[in-house]
Amino acid sequence: MKFSELGLSQDILDAIKTHGYVEATPIQEKTIPLTLSGRDVIGQAQTGTGKTAAFGLPILEHIDLNNKNIQALIVSPTRELAIQTADELKKLGHDKHVDVQVVFGGADIRRQIQNLKSHPQILVGTPGRLLDHINRKTVRLDHVRTLVLDEADEMLNMGFLDDIESIIDKTPAERQTLLFSATMPPAIKRIGVKFMTNPEHIQIEAKELTTDLVDQYFVRMRENEKFDTMTRIFDVQAPKLAIVFGRTKRRVEELARGLEARGYHAAGLHGDLTQQMRSRVLAQFKSHEINILVATDVAARGLDVKDVSHVYNFDIPQDPESYVHRIGRTGRAGAKGVSVTFVAPNEMDYLRAVEELTKKRMTPLEPATLQQARVGKINNAAGEVAKLIQSTDVAEIQDQVNALTAQYSAEQLAAALLSSAADLEKQNTPVEITRERPLPRRRGGGSRNGGGRRDGNRGGGYRGNRNRRGNGDRSNDRRGTSERRFGDYKRRDGRSNESRRNSGGSRREFTVREKG
Ligand code: ADP
Ligand code: MG
Repeated sequence: MKFSELGLSQDILDAIKTHGYVEATPIQEKTIPLTLSGRDVIGQAQTGTGKTAAFGLPILEHIDLNNKNIQALIVSPTRELAIQTADELKKLGHDKHVDVQVVFGGADIRRQIQNLKSHPQILVGTPGRLLDHINRKTVRLDHVRTLVLDEADEMLNMGFLDDIESIIDKTPAERQTLLFSATMPPAIKRIGVKFMTNPEHIQIEAKELTTDLVDQYFVRMRENEKFDTMTRIFDVQAPKLAIVFGRTKRRVEELARGLEARGYHAAGLHGDLTQQMRSRVLAQFKSHEINILVATDVAARGLDVKDVSHVYNFDIPQDPESYVHRIGRTGRAGAKGVSVTFVAPNEMDYLRAVEELTKKRMTPLEPATLQQARVGKINNAAGEVAKLIQSTDVAEIQDQVNALTAQYSAEQLAAALLSSAADLEKQNTPVEITRERPLPRRRGGGSRNGGGRRDGNRGGGYRGNRNRRGNGDRSNDRRGTSERRFGDYKRRDGRSNESRRNSGGSRREFTVREKG
């Protein structure tokens, strides 16, 4: 459907056009008119379907430029998503001169306070830092007309419910509340009942949770062979831009360093990095300076990077829904994608649970042999050589060139060049990845919201200690080995995730051993 049929005004329509959007996505088409009419809306649609603009456009439409108060507040689970959302709103609101600011933990609060002095009409923020500003009275919410809980499922998974309640408490009762989420577990429906007024629930049925544009493979193999297998697959598949998912922060660190040691352009992204580091890694990835991003689920959730061609699940996620989110990083905007999931034999039940959720079978993939990997590397090197030839100035080194061509045949020179560009030696750099505790055997299998969530003990003790409130934002202070939060915000045994996290084990040091 055309945006012009949704009741938006001309300046907003112009901004949409400048932004390059032609047609509204289904979630935009269904929710924008409702939101414009002032209704509370719960919007559920797959990741990557344009939920930001779905709430952003009506908000921009309603902003009163003469009002110097925060009129819309968007609560977002992670720094990256908060920044991404703020950027999109800034672009769409540029022509209307709407001031959008963003606050998140792990960054200098004084600078944020300075920025807030511009009196933004729209504020995007992560829960912990928002509360911090509210308590310091550097953010006032008494004029908020629209409150958005974005990526609500993720916020609950991260244990933000209490913070969100405190934030909602500071907004006027007669506000409009919008909630957007990719999935709709019962806890989210409860938020709808508790904090929203007669919300309209719009659900865009995904015919399939994962798109046909992504070819989904799995490789069954022993845990200690995964790394070698993965790098061989890299050599054969030559991913243009890939995301590798690891289960824990330590994993992510080790994988990134291990990949670098083997000559790949890789970097890790996880919650223990400073904001500056995270931004740098993302920028490098977006500019293709590195082409392999290793990340935890939380760090990569919702990231919208163009042209991600491959997703590798070095560890299969414990929660089938995470799989859907991960795979959603590729096959975007009509482009094709490939995913490969590595599964240990005792984790096959998790694979089945994923297939049951996505209603799609993954294709078994034969691990590449060392020989195939070498051939792959040489093939990739041929591309490098073409670039090298283009960028080399022969005149400058004419004498040495003449000497070499007199001494060796073209074939010999080409072979040496290729093998040097391929750097085959690096392929053998020994890398050891610390063993993670295997996933608990999946019991009861199958049920979508059940499985990992009912067992109160699951994950207990493997989460590490946390530095509560240490740096002002939860998305920044997770120290546990396992970054993924399990299940609901309250458990059967009455303890919150919070108390569990605080009583978890300790952080183990990370090591990448390079032998030889
Ligand atoms: P979600 O929040 O549902 O995961 P996003 O709001 O992050 O999805 O949007 C995913 C991508 O789609 C972004 O790059 C966004 O700019 C783009 N997008 C959003 N709406 C449209 C549209 N109507 N047409 C084309 N692209 C769009
Ligand atoms: Mg979103």
